[in-house]
Amino acid sequence: MTRTILITGASRGIGRAVAIQCGKRGWSIGVNYAGNQKAAGETVAAVEAAGGKALAIQGDVANEADVIRMFDTTERAFGPISGVVNNAGIVAPATKLADASLERLQRMFAVNVTGAYLVARETARRLGTDRGGKGGSLVNLSSAAARLGSPNEYVDYAGSKGAIDVMTIGLSKELAPAGIRVNAIRPGLIDTEIHASGGEPDRAFRLAVNVPLARPGTADEVANAILWLLSDEAAYVTGAILDVSGGR
Ligand code: NAP
Repeated sequence: MTRTILITGASRGIGRAVAIQCGKRGWSIGVNYAGNQKAAGETVAAVEAAGGKALAIQGDVANEADVIRMFDTTERAFGPISGVVNNAGIVAPATKLADASLERLQRMFAVNVTGAYLVARETARRLGTDRGGKGGSLVNLSSAAARLGSPNEYVDYAGSKGAIDVMTIGLSKELAPAGIRVNAIRPGLIDTEIHASGGEPDRAFRLAVNVPLARPGTADEVANAILWLLSDEAAYVTGAILDVSGGR
């Protein structure tokens, strides 16, 4: 069955891997990105090459009008959305909280918390059977940081992902009667460009010695779990927070 999926932050990393796997199933994808138009175009081309349809949609998840527009644009192009991957997220250079600026904290929480809540809210409004929707699946991207706390690196990021875990628990109960399953993935150390944006491209490999499976994960390995939560194979799964972290 053809499905329409919106993925925030789908130009690179985990979001791109999810988009391509959806494309292999012949699904239609809203490929949201923040600023990297070239990377978003590459994701669209890869989805189409895999057999799906895709549209690149610029928008900042921390901006309410942008979030509404990314849902509108996806639905206009491909029809009603039945799955949303709440994936866009940022880190910042490693620091102790004592040295963190207000601007850093505000941006971290604006994107990772307010942004994720706005995307979840729009999902509730559009997919909820109580509001004329057909139900569906929302998959939130948390992090193992929510369990570990990320001391000396980014306790702000860890806290923002703790909020995603709690939102997943509450919203799964709030939206179950409306036919929307809400789950979260907690990736561990995954080999994407997010570590370069935090100032250390090789971070996942450096810290892999602490991972029981003794290596970083790949974006595709996280995408596999997300695709399962999007699918009807997970029809009885809601409120779950799934670690995809190699045992870390
Ligand atoms: P990534 O490689 O850095 O890619 C980030 C994606 O998010 C890009 O597509 C980027 O768009 C987009 N983005 C950033 N800020 C945005 C905003 N304000 N609005 C809309 N889109 C925005 O990240 P990743 O490693 O794939 O991580 C994806 C998610 O998994 C994040 O929530 C992250 O916290 C979580 N996670 C990752 C890891 C890991 O080790 N990689 C571990 C735990 C959790 P542009 O290309 O336009 O910049």
